[in-house]
Amino acid sequence: HSTDSYRGRFAPSPSGPLHQGSLLTALASYLDARHAGGHWLLRIEDIDPPREPPGAADAIRRCLTAHALHPDEPVLYQHTQSAAYDRALETLDAQGWLFRCSCTRRQLGPGGACGGRCADGATAAAGPTSLRVRVTADFDAFFTDLVQGGQLLQQEDVPRDFVVRRKDGLYAYQLAVVVDEAHQGITHVIRGMDLLPTTFQQRYLQQALGLPLPAYGHIPVITDTTGRKLSKQNRAPAADLARPLANLQQLLQLLRQPVPKADTPEALLEAAAKGWDREALNGMTRLVVTQ
Ligand code: GLU
Repeated sequence: HSTDSYRGRFAPSPSGPLHQGSLLTALASYLDARHAGGHWLLRIEDIDPPREPPGAADAIRRCLTAHALHPDEPVLYQHTQSAAYDRALETLDAQGWLFRCSCTRRQLGPGGACGGRCADGATAAAGPTSLRVRVTADFDAFFTDLVQGGQLLQQEDVPRDFVVRRKDGLYAYQLAVVVDEAHQGITHVIRGMDLLPTTFQQRYLQQALGLPLPAYGHIPVITDTTGRKLSKQNRAPAADLARPLANLQQLLQLLRQPVPKADTPEALLEAAAKGWDREALNGMTRLVVTQ
């Protein structure tokens, strides 16, 4: 077991406290890393200030600490990474990957693509523009997911271009996430199924920037019986910091893992990491919770 051959991460956006669904992803990424004898890192994806209530990042860190989910290295805050994102944009631009887009929401085609309207520079307009990356015929529409197996994007779903810097000047998630996987040396990304479709764009950017390609595994998301994902939008309650052991045990059960007996979160996680079996999740896309 070498720690360089496995570097995993949890990368929450601080748009609110962790709920059962986000804690599930934190736990699964942690156990997958620990089981492999690897490192587990924390990255706070704070690139969208209007959506970040004050104190949310601290609340997330307190919640992880209460559940004994301790990262192995100093936490990376994306708000400190602007220079690296600008460098990546310059690299892309120098190689002709980028164009400015002035499309309004109404003008954009299916999937939010500008689709050639601005790509030739003809409309290079006054007013705010976003930066988009061109998608060429080299777009790799297939990858093998560690949990979900082979993923093939249908031809009509291949994006024609996508945003890397928004009109309001904020960096797009797709750009920041790719720069920071490389910055932190991430080899394995374990995250929720809802993000699986973004993997194609991320792999495309990694190839355009000459960055290493991590392995990706997408675990099921928690939904209610109607199939709605637990989220801040539907007011999923914050994880209760007063009962970390019970929370972790419940999450292990949801993840189809053995639930070891333990007196502390630390001891529970150690035993759970030994017993972790990622394959128990193979092909599962959601976990239905009834209450
Ligand atoms: N920051 C993203 C979120 O909280 C997740 C990013 C990722 O895991 O790739 O939804």
